[in-house]
Amino acid sequence: TEPLLQVTGLTTELGDPARPARVVDGLTLDIRSGETFALLGESGCGKSMTALSLMRLLPPSGRITAGSVQLAGTELLTLTEAEMRQVRGGRMAMIFQEPQTSLNPVLTVGTQIGEAVRLHQGDTRQRLGAERAVELLRAVGIPDPDQRLNEYPHQLSGGMKQRVMIAMALAGNPRLLIADEPTTALDVTIQAQVLRLLKAVQSANGLAVLLITHDLGVVAETAERLAVMYAGQIVETAPMAEFFAQPLHPYSRHLLESLPDAGKRGGRLAVIPGRVPSPDTPFQGCRFVERCPAAIERCRLEVPEWRALGEGRGVRCHLAEPDTAEASDHPVSDR
Ligand code: SF4
Ligand code: MG
Repeated sequence: TEPLLQVTGLTTELGDPARPARVVDGLTLDIRSGETFALLGESGCGKSMTALSLMRLLPPSGRITAGSVQLAGTELLTLTEAEMRQVRGGRMAMIFQEPQTSLNPVLTVGTQIGEAVRLHQGDTRQRLGAERAVELLRAVGIPDPDQRLNEYPHQLSGGMKQRVMIAMALAGNPRLLIADEPTTALDVTIQAQVLRLLKAVQSANGLAVLLITHDLGVVAETAERLAVMYAGQIVETAPMAEFFAQPLHPYSRHLLESLPDAGKRGGRLAVIPGRVPSPDTPFQGCRFVERCPAAIERCRLEVPEWRALGEGRGVRCHLAEPDTAEASDHPVSDR
C-alpha cells in the first residue's frame, strides 16, 4: 500500500543563504496510515525543524531548498500558501510541546475549538461549531465539556490544555497528526494519560501519528517504527522490535545501552560526551565521529552513505552491518 506521507530528500536551511545552517539534510521517510512513527533524537538535532518543514511553518529565516513531501499523493511543497492553509489543521495537524503558546489566552475554549471546526467544515453556523466542540472535548476525555467551553486557557491544567490542543487538531479530521514533544512539559502521570489518549484517538480515527521526542521511553511505548536523527540527518530507521533487538548505528546503541531498563517510561536519552555539531559546521566525514566509540580513520575522511537493509530498515555508518548470526546467538530476551 502507498504510504500516507512520503518525504524524500527534504533539506531545510536557516539564516544567511551565503552561509546557511543546514538543519535538515536530505531527510527521507514514509509513514503509513494508522501507524505511529517516532522521530527520536537529542535537542538541536533538527527534529522540530523537520516538523515545521512538513507543515511549511518555518521561521522567516528558514527555507526548504530541496526535496519532496507528499501527503496522500499531493505534493505539499508546491502548494500555494492558501492551499497549504487548507491542508494544515485539515488533513494534517500539529500539536506542540507548550500548549499555552498555541492557545489564545483571551478566548474561551469553546470559541477556539468552534473556530477550528468552522474553519475546516466551511460552516459558519455558531451552533454547529459548539456542538462539535463538545463532541471533541468528550473525545479527548475532558469531563463536563459543556462547562469547559466557557472557560479560558488559564483555568485549565497543563494536561487539560494539551487535551484541548488535541481536540482542536482533530477538528479537521486529520489523516496525519504531528506531535512535537507533546508530553515533555507535563508531569509523568499526565504524560502517560496524554499518550494513552493519543493512542485511543489514533485507533478510533485510523490516523497516522508522527511522534517527535527525545524520550526513548515514550518511543518504546507508543511507536511501531522509528527514525533516529542526528545533526540533521536520519542515521537509522527500524521497526521498534528490531531496533531494540539489534540497534545498528553506534549512536542508537549508545542510546539503548544507557537506558537501564529499556522501554521504561521516562527513560531519557543518555548524555553522550560531546554535543550535536552545530548545523553550520562544515562536515568532511561522519557527523558523529567526535563522539563515536567505534570510529576509525575512514570515518573522518568519508561521509557514510545511507544503506537500505531491507523492509523498513536502514543505517548511515561505515561499520554497521546487520549480523544475523550474532542476533540469534543472543536472543532479544537477554536484554
Ligand atoms: Fe562511528 Fe564511523 Fe559509523 Fe560514524 S561512520 S557512526 S564515526 S563508526
Ligand atoms: Mg524540539
